Amino acid sequence: MTDRLHPETLALHAGWRADPSTGAVAPPIYQTTSYQFRDTDHAADLFALKELGNIYTRIGNPTTDILEQRVAAIEGGAAALALASGQAASAYAVQNLARVGDNIVSGTDLYGGTWNLFANTLKDQGIEVRFVDPADPEAFLRATDDRTRAWYVETLPNPKLVVAPIREVAALGRPLGIPLIVDNTAAPLIARPLDHGAAIVVYSTTKYIGGHGTSIGGIIVDGGTFDWEALPERQPLLNTPDPSYHGVVWSEAAKALGPIAYILRARTVLLRDLGAALSPFNAFQILQGLETLPLRMPRHCENAAKVVTFLQGRPDVVRVIHPSVQTGIQAERTTRYLSGGHGGLVGFELEGGGAAGRAFINALKLFYHVANIGDARSLAIHPASTTHSQLSAEEQFATGVSEGYVRLSVGLEHIDDILADLTQALDAVAP
Ligand code: PLP
Repeated sequence: MTDRLHPETLALHAGWRADPSTGAVAPPIYQTTSYQFRDTDHAADLFALKELGNIYTRIGNPTTDILEQRVAAIEGGAAALALASGQAASAYAVQNLARVGDNIVSGTDLYGGTWNLFANTLKDQGIEVRFVDPADPEAFLRATDDRTRAWYVETLPNPKLVVAPIREVAALGRPLGIPLIVDNTAAPLIARPLDHGAAIVVYSTTKYIGGHGTSIGGIIVDGGTFDWEALPERQPLLNTPDPSYHGVVWSEAAKALGPIAYILRARTVLLRDLGAALSPFNAFQILQGLETLPLRMPRHCENAAKVVTFLQGRPDVVRVIHPSVQTGIQAERTTRYLSGGHGGLVGFELEGGGAAGRAFINALKLFYHVANIGDARSLAIHPASTTHSQLSAEEQFATGVSEGYVRLSVGLEHIDDILADLTQALDAVAP
């Protein structure tokens, strides 16, 4: 039934109707570590993947399962795996395909934490990440060799806000057996990467999906359309016997369960062994947030657009960064991929550079000064000294962070109050 429903409806209904024993309508928080098996055959079948079911909350939980089904349904994917953070989602999404000696190709326009993970931690684990300009799809091809297992971009890169050419990149990778992984954290509902050929979508659910700044979480969505077996030598982790699971070949094992080889391995190997499980309580909080996402996203977009117009009218603002100010091919990509709106993030630079930007943030009264985006409340930060401070000057430049860059995550307050706070803070630092 859910196939025919709209995202607004799926956000309220997918994956859950009512508790069979009590009739409870709100998803229960199954705060349990483990589950009573019916008998020893049942336990053995679950462990042998002959039957899917609850074994232990590190690898699956009924509350978390509702979140996974709901996000997969909204995204148009086959299945999902919720995790303890967006960072875990990005890491597992890559580690599920690449091992020591392998590489992936990633766009440079990334959240600072993802940059660090790719440039340093994955490198230490023997996985090389080759960075390319995501605006040039052919650059992904040029950086690819026989050991390339995946390509990676952010739809609406935080904080560069230049939309990635998802369809163009995905179409180049598919004939080579290379899936495109898309971090859609800044653009849930407004961009639909799977519709454009992406194979996998990752989110930090900490942001817009949770939406209220209460819970850290992440999720990986398996689109279910990528043919992992077409070029088996390209994806050895899914096509060769896995000694950690009595020699199972994941593309074979998934056949009875659906087009879920990728997400099945992520759960049964990475989540089992590395253990970044989302707590059932956080799954509940994120589900609660997700129910109103279709209402919140348009308001974030609308308020952000008004902030852009306001900033463009200020003589002390020398540059505004927002998908709507792009020109040429970037503007075309904005229209194609952000079909549901331009998102809630706005960047700008003041005439006085970094010092003026920092003074502006200190003068804000309504906006919170926090390292987060996608909260219902309006937020501001200076990325060069915070979220991207662990990057070198060159790396900051590559990810779109200049010394004077101020990032706003425009919230759901009344627009007059948002603009009043921006006005008083700008006036306070006016040269
Ligand atoms: N991806 C993007 C685009 C982000 O902005 C963030 C966090 O800011 C993450 C991933 C990491 O998510 P988390 O903080 O939930 O680990």
